[in-house]
Amino acid sequence: MVRPASRARRRKHWAAAPAGVSAGLAVIAGSAAPIGLGGLAEQLAITAGTTSATVTTLVGKGLVAKRRRKTDRREVQLKLTAKGKRVAASAGEWPEAVLAAAAALSQGDQAGLVRGLIALIRELLERGAVPTARMCVGCRFFRPNEYPTGAKRHHCQYIDAPIGDSDLRVECAEMEPIEAELAPRLWNLFVKGRSLGTELQMPEEQEMRGRGRVR
Ligand code: SF4
Repeated sequence: MVRPASRARRRKHWAAAPAGVSAGLAVIAGSAAPIGLGGLAEQLAITAGTTSATVTTLVGKGLVAKRRRKTDRREVQLKLTAKGKRVAASAGEWPEAVLAAAAALSQGDQAGLVRGLIALIRELLERGAVPTARMCVGCRFFRPNEYPTGAKRHHCQYIDAPIGDSDLRVECAEMEPIEAELAPRLWNLFVKGRSLGTELQMPEEQEMRGRGRVR
């Protein structure tokens, strides 16, 4: 049973963190370049008013600082404070009990878990329920099923090395999105266990290679 004082604290905490605040922090943390209010609104698919309220909350909590762009003083850029970086880093961590349970799984079960998680995130993305994800399965460096045998079946062109299902990233700083029109094709190759190399006779893979969109 929750004691009144504890419940009041929880309510206060909840009220101080309206929807979008955690997502806002994650987007600012994941941006390779400084992001402005317009960019944040676009990434979160929210209105300018909601973006402004989200940023006000983040600034009020000491997690984000506003800066004026040197070349255009009218433009505001958002930057994580030291506290914001700590909170963003810990927010991305899995609870210890989940990590311990996952570590106890076999390598095959871990790989299956990662694939299932990726499929779930992708579905959420398609439904617009989550703003962005920097996953291998949407990355132009990703080469699915390049190696027919062994645990590391895929290849990452960025690090130029094989990677397995359990290595697949859902939030990779080096990820560069593949063109939107090609993303479903890359996903199909991944889930159907096909590689670009073995499917060269298919027009879509020829197009992807020929246009240099997947290397
Ligand atoms: S760069 Fe990152 S997201 Fe892209 S394939 Fe390599 S590990 Fe995956």
